[in-house]
Amino acid sequence: MVCSITRRASFSASYYYRLPELSQEENEARFGIQARSPGATFWLWVKIIGPVDEYGMVANLSTQVKRSLRRYILKPLDGRNLNEAWVEFAETLPTPEWISHTLWHRLKPHLNVASIVVSPHEEVRAEYLGNGMEARLTIRTHFSAAHRLSLPQLTLTQNSEIYGKCSRPSGHGHNYNLAITVQGEIDPKSGMVVDFKALSDLIENGIIEELDHRFLNTDIPYFDKVVPTAENIAIYIRDSLEIPIKKLGASLYKVELHETDNNSCEVYGNSVIDSQTGLQNLGQLTQGSMSTPAPVSNSHPASV
Ligand SMILES: [Zn+2]
Repeated sequence: MVCSITRRASFSASYYYRLPELSQEENEARFGIQARSPGATFWLWVKIIGPVDEYGMVANLSTQVKRSLRRYILKPLDGRNLNEAWVEFAETLPTPEWISHTLWHRLKPHLNVASIVVSPHEEVRAEYLGNGMEARLTIRTHFSAAHRLSLPQLTLTQNSEIYGKCSRPSGHGHNYNLAITVQGEIDPKSGMVVDFKALSDLIENGIIEELDHRFLNTDIPYFDKVVPTAENIAIYIRDSLEIPIKKLGASLYKVELHETDNNSCEVYGNSVIDSQTGLQNLGQLTQGSMSTPAPVSNSHPASV
């Protein structure tokens, strides 16, 4: 029986994004305050995979896992400047993607690591799964919008039977939490799978600005004929972002939309679905993502 377990840990460190061929002014224009020397508490989720042993464990959390994390990750990095702490971060900027890649390779000789998630703050997380230079980057954001769920060919009574209170004619609103995950190759110099500022601007200008503080049914032409359920909103967001993200050099992996704390949906990029052989595999994908720690609507551990 193969199983996976996840251990959360954190360290605090300073870091900077500065390319030596650029002046400080140019670095700040490209990387913002990260060209100075900000600090962050980096939260890690380390997933370990393996058979369940005679003691009922994949790995002993209180001895093997905690000790390995402390010895090989936390002690060398906690309270340090990342760029100066390890050679990996001197050669490549210590972005979340590159940190997750580096920690995976540092830990792999000691633990059967499947993936490492790194989050320097609640809006950003990166995940590395051991595939060459490939990594995933997630940006979390939010928007507020109103909608009404109904089909025009049905009566109010019929719509009410299908959509409940959500079919009431005047509509209602939600504060939507949105997580966009892209996948790409880590640039060996910048440490990024995609230009972070370009991706942030794309999400902000390409979708948030359009949807925020709107009545979706009437303000967004797409929802003239499509019911703006969370599923359809997520599909609309995916279809709006997929090509622009491709132009930035990455691919859209997943859109995760939380309508309330209780209701959420996920849709995968077409390239992800195309690489699968059918619904069964998509089901496996969904199960995998459900086991990913700290879903989008949850508080970041730093704020707990
Ligand atoms: Zn609703």
